[in-house]
Amino acid sequence: MPRPAQGRRVITVLEPRRVKVQGDLFHGRVPEGAVYAGRAAPGLRRSPFNNPHRVGKPCGACAGAVHTLDEALTLYSAHLDANPELVERARQELAGHDLACWCGLSGRCHVDELLRRANDATRHFSSAHQMPQTSREEATT
Ligand SMILES: [Zn+2]
Ligand SMILES: [Zn+2]
Repeated sequence: MPRPAQGRRVITVLEPRRVKVQGDLFHGRVPEGAVYAGRAAPGLRRSPFNNPHRVGKPCGACAGAVHTLDEALTLYSAHLDANPELVERARQELAGHDLACWCGLSGRCHVDELLRRANDATRHFSSAHQMPQTSREEATT
């Protein structure tokens, strides 16, 4: 196996990640240095980057439909696609920051996608020398 290209480790230290809100539902506290990315909760201001599609409870954005986690995550992606100004704002306000949500860290969460998008621009910038992967043309039909 070839060794990973040199220089890649440099940014991993600063790589923002998802963290979990501390405390309980009535006294939520965002870990220091992180930005809250969820819905309004006692002590926590609603984030403009929250997922309007909730899981397992009637969704206010979908006339009461109840989503699975998969659906809610897919719909969040679509929500960001439909609101490029929100993604732009995320890049300006969230890039480089840890993002906090109530979700357990072992499961999936809308913040994973938000982190990806918010840090997309910086990643392009810091790895400008990296060649884009060329898609192989293979006849698969
Ligand atoms: Zn919904
Ligand atoms: Zn979450």
